[in-house]
Amino acid sequence: MKCPRCGREYEEIIPPFCICGAELELTYDYSSIDVKKWKRRIPGVWRYKELLPPVKKIISLREGGTPLLKARISEKLGVDVYIKDETRNPTGSFRDRLATVAVSYGLPYASNGFIIASDGNAAASVAAYSARAEKEAFVIVPRKVDKGKLIQMIAFGAKIIRYGESVDDAIEYAREIAKLNGLYNVTPEDNIIGLEGQKTIAYELWEEINPTHVIVPTGSGSYLYSIYKGFKELLEIGVLKEMPKLVAVQVDKCNPIAAEILGMEKECREIKALGLYVRNPVMKSRAVKAIKETRGTAIIVSEEEIDAGEKLLANEGIFAELSSAVVMPALLKLVESEFVEKGDKVVLVVTGSGLKTGEGGREKFSIGGTKLEILKILKDREMYAYEIWKALGKPLKYQAVHQHIRELQDLGLIEEAYRRGKRIYYKLTEKGARLVENLE
Ligand SMILES: [Zn+2]
Repeated sequence: MKCPRCGREYEEIIPPFCICGAELELTYDYSSIDVKKWKRRIPGVWRYKELLPPVKKIISLREGGTPLLKARISEKLGVDVYIKDETRNPTGSFRDRLATVAVSYGLPYASNGFIIASDGNAAASVAAYSARAEKEAFVIVPRKVDKGKLIQMIAFGAKIIRYGESVDDAIEYAREIAKLNGLYNVTPEDNIIGLEGQKTIAYELWEEINPTHVIVPTGSGSYLYSIYKGFKELLEIGVLKEMPKLVAVQVDKCNPIAAEILGMEKECREIKALGLYVRNPVMKSRAVKAIKETRGTAIIVSEEEIDAGEKLLANEGIFAELSSAVVMPALLKLVESEFVEKGDKVVLVVTGSGLKTGEGGREKFSIGGTKLEILKILKDREMYAYEIWKALGKPLKYQAVHQHIRELQDLGLIEEAYRRGKRIYYKLTEKGARLVENLE
């Protein structure tokens, strides 16, 4: 790989930008690509090997080739909506597309193993593919990371280092460690090799429906950019006539890419959709370029809307992680604003499985034992928190009772009855009362 501006050569690790500042991008001899060959191969990332970096040995778990499902919501909206279910990749996220290429390519350079900084999914993937390659994986993840992803990393035997607040800090730390130990760094913000794997989703979408719009949950911007690159290459080969419009979805509290597109003041505070919590996305300039060039847009959703989105996806039979659930509210907004219209073929990219987030946010879906007990206690009369705690009569922190009360309120099962001084008395709502009745 030669820098188009200064001619500097890169082989082992290809950073997004050359030292001279030029943007680096892997290219191929597009005139020699025969896409008809693809049909004869099994689905998956390596089906498109002519458009991937050359490797001596492929480390694969059969990633890619994920189902594209027609969404039931299509009927209601009068638009053809498809869900690209990336939760069906080997470790439950789109990052397996990255890991298979980055680990296969990096194998000759990884005598001491692989290293990656990630908010979770990429680390879990690289842990799996390193295990498959009989290599050590060093994963640098922020202190706050989804539990399910952490469990995966542990299961695959990765060496886990918790560092910093968001993935931005972890990236810098990984860079330092990679220098010291000569590990092969597959962090996409520092090595674009893996993005070549991610772009294969674009080929799959083109082969299946040739969409008009692709809606992508956006944190670092790397997936959106990869998708753009995939379609752009199809254009270059001459089999695609028009680029689909790319739509980035971010959360109101952390929106650096969307803010730039929409010309707003950017904001980034911690959000529960941890995969979208990236303060300074390295791929921002590329993602912004991709959106503008395809005449796409950006959509900002609130955390409440994510919850609703999660349920809408669940209605489709898809259990998505919070970071992926943003696509549903985004779709509704795009239909409302007529950015998406009848006749369009819209793809929602569901990037990761809900199984990966672990407890925490998930509790709202379940009425566990304690919550049920609280409901039963409140059936007889109104009570305030301390009374409820007493009535439960079990070794439970008082704080935990407050948490349950809050969640029961969120679920619409209990509500404030009245206040006496500082005490807030709670009672069952109609829905709560019905639930208790049904359970008894
Ligand atoms: Zn250069």
